[in-house]
Amino acid sequence: MLDCAIIGGGPAGLTAGLYTTRGGLENVTMYEKGMPGGQITQSSEIENYPGAVGEITGMELMEPWPEQCQKFGLKHEMVEVTRVSKEGNVFKIHRNDGKVDEAHSVIIGTGSRPRRAGFTGEDEFFGRGVSTCATCDGFFYRNKEVAVVGGGDTALEEALYLAKICAKVYLIHRRDTFRSAPNTVERIKRTANIELVLNAVPEEVYGDKMGVNGLKVKNKDGVIRDIVVPGVFTFVGNDVNNQTLIQEDGSFLCEMNSAGEVIVDISMKTSIPGLFATGDMRIAAPKQVVSAAGDGAVAALQAISYVDELLNH
Ligand code: FAD
Ligand code: NAP
Repeated sequence: MLDCAIIGGGPAGLTAGLYTTRGGLENVTMYEKGMPGGQITQSSEIENYPGAVGEITGMELMEPWPEQCQKFGLKHEMVEVTRVSKEGNVFKIHRNDGKVDEAHSVIIGTGSRPRRAGFTGEDEFFGRGVSTCATCDGFFYRNKEVAVVGGGDTALEEALYLAKICAKVYLIHRRDTFRSAPNTVERIKRTANIELVLNAVPEEVYGDKMGVNGLKVKNKDGVIRDIVVPGVFTFVGNDVNNQTLIQEDGSFLCEMNSAGEVIVDISMKTSIPGLFATGDMRIAAPKQVVSAAGDGAVAALQAISYVDELLNH
């Protein structure tokens, strides 16, 4: 029986692994279906992780994390978890190799993934001019012009954020009304360096080996407009990796919101005692490495108390 099972080996899961083992839990396993490190390993440059100065890739940032955890006894299973269930006080960890492990507590941090808009060149230039994170990459376009795609709250809020850093923001949306809150739409309209490009869909992002040079958009009359920008930010929705919480009857193990994010309190506690959710998959996640790591630490401290209470009181 594990003291704690950690599902996901990104910044949240690895930090949970560090704090649970170093904090005294004896038997902790982290389940990661790929190499540990999480989504940030796809990033060619990270500038906003405190203390990590100089030109550093996401891979370089994450490389030492597993070794640091293993020093304190964290075990790592390179396997996909298909489902987490709970019977009485025991969590069952269902693995895709058919085995089922048992644990007193679970910290889940399986992340999320931004949806792709589906235009030509989007995948080719992802991370080289096409981005889904303004907080991460906006600074690279300081005083330059950028395009933002989408018409929901995320797109509009990120366009406002980018407008403070960039010379100009083209906000491209496929309709002429927005999904976003009316107040946010008003703020967009009042921002002088945001140009609305409505009833328009991205056709193709183009560039060269240095990165993006521009985006071609097609309006509803079929007219193509060439928007010359080095950066294109897409915010067309997000999918949470919450599949492991789906039970045999189709319900979720714990309470979720309508976007499929796990509802937690400020201690990362879910509605199920002993189950903690961390990082990009939880409600109101800032979707940053530093905040995911912080969640992992908070959840680990709570898991230590929970297991102590369960076994000793
Ligand atoms: P993730 O990093 O997504 O890790 C989840 C892990 O769980 C993954 O390794 C996955 O393989 C594993 N997993 C999922 N399902 C299962 C399963 N069923 N069984 C076993 N394992 C599973 N943030 C910043 O702070 N600064 C930046 O500059 C920055 N740039 C970014 C650039 C790019 C290109 C991307 C994609 C993201 C960037 N981010 C940046 C965001 C940052 O990477 C995330 O906020 C952070 O990684 C979230 O950590 P997490 O641990 O919650 O999830
Ligand atoms: P969203 O509300 O689903 O909006 C996605 C936007 O992308 C929509 O405008 C959609 O257009 C557009 N889109 C989708 N696919 C596209 C494609 N292939 N090409 C071009 N455009 C495409 O997603 P979100 O903005 O990430 O928000 C998700 C949820 O979180 C929402 O409930 C939102 O309210 C909430 N949220 C709230 C806040 C806040 O309250 N402050 C902040 C952020 C997010 P259509 O409109 O035409 O469908």
